[in-house]
Amino acid sequence: MAELIAGIDLGTTNSEISFFIDGKIVLVPIDGDPVMPSCVGIDPSGKLIVGRSARNQMVSYPESTIVSIKRKMGNDVQVTLGDKSLSPEEVSAIILRQLKNKAEEYLRQPVNKAVITVPAFFQDHQRQATLEAGKLAGLDVVRIINEPTAASVAYEADHSINQKILVYDLGGGTFDVSLVSVENGVVEVMSSHGDTHLGGDDFDDCIIEHLLKHIKEKHAGFSGNKKIRQRLWKAAEIAKRELSDNPFARVREEFITDSIHLDIEISRDEYESMIMPLLQKTLDCIHSCLRDAGKVPGDIDRIILVGGSTRTPLVHLLIEQTLGKTPQYEINPDLIVSMGAAAHGAVIGGASAHSILVDITPFSFGTSAVDFEDGRPNFDKFVPVIKRNTPLPASKTEAFATMVDGQEHVEVNIYQGESESASSNTFIGEFTIKGLSDIPAPNAILLNLELDLNGMLKVTATEKSTGLSKTVIMDTRKPQGSKNTRMSEELFSELAGVKEIFENPDQSSDEKLDSPESAPDDNELILRAKNLRKRAEKLFGSNVNEEDAEELKDLLEKSREAIASGQTELLEQYTTSLEDLIFYLED
Ligand code: AMP
Repeated sequence: MAELIAGIDLGTTNSEISFFIDGKIVLVPIDGDPVMPSCVGIDPSGKLIVGRSARNQMVSYPESTIVSIKRKMGNDVQVTLGDKSLSPEEVSAIILRQLKNKAEEYLRQPVNKAVITVPAFFQDHQRQATLEAGKLAGLDVVRIINEPTAASVAYEADHSINQKILVYDLGGGTFDVSLVSVENGVVEVMSSHGDTHLGGDDFDDCIIEHLLKHIKEKHAGFSGNKKIRQRLWKAAEIAKRELSDNPFARVREEFITDSIHLDIEISRDEYESMIMPLLQKTLDCIHSCLRDAGKVPGDIDRIILVGGSTRTPLVHLLIEQTLGKTPQYEINPDLIVSMGAAAHGAVIGGASAHSILVDITPFSFGTSAVDFEDGRPNFDKFVPVIKRNTPLPASKTEAFATMVDGQEHVEVNIYQGESESASSNTFIGEFTIKGLSDIPAPNAILLNLELDLNGMLKVTATEKSTGLSKTVIMDTRKPQGSKNTRMSEELFSELAGVKEIFENPDQSSDEKLDSPESAPDDNELILRAKNLRKRAEKLFGSNVNEEDAEELKDLLEKSREAIASGQTELLEQYTTSLEDLIFYLED
């Protein structure tokens, strides 16, 4: 039997311990959670406490609680805990001993050996201090490995493929990016960059500031004290996590003071603009990391995401935009380092190399929607809600909206696949949600998709303003074949029949849109033309010169006449000219 060797991620905020047993990763739960806060404290009765309980008393008893000791590893300093004075190694040893004890309780066997991970930028004395902490905890530290190396091992334990892997690690308090090279079985960190004070905690701060600003605007003279900030921090952190899977998060906190109750909705868009400057810093670090290694984005074979904050969708998007490659996030980003260390430990202990297997969806699941690209309506746009390679079970929500005032129903079509055009993907199922409120467009409709390990997809559409919802369960193993995604005639006539879509009522065009002879292609052309009118009107208010304004007016008039007289070819011609002119004027 292979020797039992623990994989330990001794983190700044949290620590984890796992094992590779019988070809599978076993994560040790600590107080019911595989993640243990790296906190040590003395409770009011004088008892030593570690993990969640220490973290919970941090606000009330900061002088009896130690956090973020990793930042001091290797420094010749002492920290006080109650009436004791301890070195950073001793504090880390307390954390490691707790992990060891919990693992022994869980596995019912002794744990004596471990692989412990450290940041790639750790110097020799910091690595030495980590070794020392392991010894003090009663562990034989068989190897100290770099965190990005451990993450790479988790995805590919046998190193049989030569490649360059970019590991982007955004945790609670720190950010690191490393370029790892795998060459003839040798794994090496080529370069590493980061910011030791950048992470999810800063994102929480952005939301807290947003909440405080909101309260101050409503209640003059309000100033948030430490206790209020702490309460808002909890709410902010929960909202932040929610915004990773939902387009909106609501923060409700009663009795912020005797008379102040907080009730505010934050949209993902608002949140993303708050954290954008912080994420920009991480992109700058990626460029520095590549520059130091003498590499360019095209040299990267894989991008691996590590750290809880990489669940933020904007992180995925920005990395993809910057490097032109989709990052991998199949393995839980909080646990991947400990898992990789365990896999590495198993290899040292004589087990055959295995990559870590996780349940993921091999396809994206989403819906069709109308999208306006350069003013043209695209009725066949596929919008993924659960993206390919997402770990299962998964639940994700995206926001959509009605197109016309008083729109009474919405058709929901669900597809599986990767094509941008819905009709090229596999049709899974459909339903219609009816009885929507008689309110102006856009009326927000939330679409939630929940996919389980057995391929059952629960689809829920909810009218955001009223909570009116409809749920249908679809079996993704039994696709329904293909479906014509052109908007149904029923919905089209509803869209067309309700006043004007893009501007003031125009009887002649309404008649045309309503007319049964009007082919769907003509309808799309008319919608395109009308949308251009809306964009053109905005331009009249800006500083467009007289000559351009005249040309714009002339084309608009001609396109209106073409719609009224049903001259499709002419309309096509004017619409194209309008598009060109508007594109030029908007620039
Ligand atoms: P780590 O240090 O890797 O454990 O990462 C912890 C950070 O990840 C904390 O700031 C968490 O608030 C953050 N985090 C955890 N889950 C999510 C999530 N679903 N979305 C955004 N941030 C998250």
